[in-house]
Amino acid sequence: MLKTWVNRWRNRGKPPTRLDPVIIPRDQHPISRRQISSVAVKTLYRLHDAGYQAFLIGGGVRDLLIGIMPKDFDIATDATPEEVKALFGNQCQVIGRRFRLAHVRWGREIIEVATFRANHDEAASHQGGINDDGLIIRDNVWGCIEEDAARRDFTINAIYYNIADFSLWDFANGSADIENRIIRMIGDPELRYREDPVRMLRAIRFAAKLDFDIEPRTAHPIPLLAELLSDISPHRMYDECQKLLSAGYATYVLPLLQDYGLFETLFPQAAKFPCQQLWMLTARNTDQRIADDKNIHPAFFLSALLWGDVQNHFNTLIASGMPRVPAWQKASQLALTRQHARTAIPRHIGQVAREIWELQERLQTPRPRQVELLAQNPRFRAAYDFLLLREQAGEATNDMGAWWTRWQGADPGLQAEMVRGLTDVGGKGKRPRRKRTAKVSSQ
Ligand code: ATP
Ligand code: MG
Repeated sequence: MLKTWVNRWRNRGKPPTRLDPVIIPRDQHPISRRQISSVAVKTLYRLHDAGYQAFLIGGGVRDLLIGIMPKDFDIATDATPEEVKALFGNQCQVIGRRFRLAHVRWGREIIEVATFRANHDEAASHQGGINDDGLIIRDNVWGCIEEDAARRDFTINAIYYNIADFSLWDFANGSADIENRIIRMIGDPELRYREDPVRMLRAIRFAAKLDFDIEPRTAHPIPLLAELLSDISPHRMYDECQKLLSAGYATYVLPLLQDYGLFETLFPQAAKFPCQQLWMLTARNTDQRIADDKNIHPAFFLSALLWGDVQNHFNTLIASGMPRVPAWQKASQLALTRQHARTAIPRHIGQVAREIWELQERLQTPRPRQVELLAQNPRFRAAYDFLLLREQAGEATNDMGAWWTRWQGADPGLQAEMVRGLTDVGGKGKRPRRKRTAKVSSQ
């Protein structure tokens, strides 16, 4: 009795530790096995045939209910990662420390199989852990499906598809929220954000991706808690940013991040030296490329986000007497190093961003002899696209974006004439003097 009371007191304000499902039979929902990736179905059946519970969960179910093609199919089961490994052998790899799960490989496709988890508090064993600020630092306490559902982030992400009888188990009234196009946190939003601040980014991501509204109680704490994101490992933050900006709906993500005060936490330097118009054009350009099935380089968005910061460093270095070429190199390095502290930028991606920035001046004021060489530079395409966007954003580029467009479409005769035209501007063989963008454009 006393123990129950103490537990209740300790758990006051905490999200419920388990939820009960409403079971929706197969004939009352639209999801059919044919819509699910065949390897996900095989994985579900293999688990089920071995006597484990096996459910499709998360985005796979949510997106099918909404009527869009899921990005991936995640599975939840009562088998532990080791049991999954024993069942799938070499096909399976157990990964992760903070959140341990099994990856089952089918050719090039990987299906994530996560074991049901339970909530845990400070008293929990080494399998689970929450630090003094309420942040979950380890999340490997196994539980039952009712407990697992209570730990899911949003109601729309807590609908399970049962391979045993094809029913849906809806634990938090997610189907109604899908119907009403609402993102709603399960449990107390503030507490859930404190447990894992990345959930704030996930709320924005789903609102942008699905064009859903964030319900007021779920939305309210976000600007107040935005700073908590600085406690998240820069590697995880980088992954989350990638998901936010390169999934085809950056045009919606960017204003939401800014409205909710999250942008400054993710990109503090960019927020100080904004190039809003360039960012929105880059977002639109990126989304369009994805819609057209073209590839995008993660460095491109980064180049746009940090462009104001890079120019600011550059201007300071030039003012201190540094020559232009080393000033660009140093400015790029400074911008990347600062951003790296927030979102760990893989070295090869930073390198590409650096090349895009450093090529801007060379494309804006090309030496005639270098025109051919510049066009053959492996980074020419990205740097030229970036120059075009800057031009569209109203930056002073001497219309060189348009010049390069014409040059690329011209026959050799016209190309040579255009290059001679460049020589005319600056005198024979000399680098033409052009007015450069001296200041950051902060539209
Ligand atoms: P998508 O894959 O389309 O981006 P998703 O909802 O499937 O969306 P995942 O990151 O694949 O997102 O996660 C799968 C499921 O795991 C989610 O639907 C949610 O139920 C749960 N989940 C993921 N991350 C968290 C988190 N930080 N807190 C609570 N639950 C989470
Ligand atoms: Mg998913």
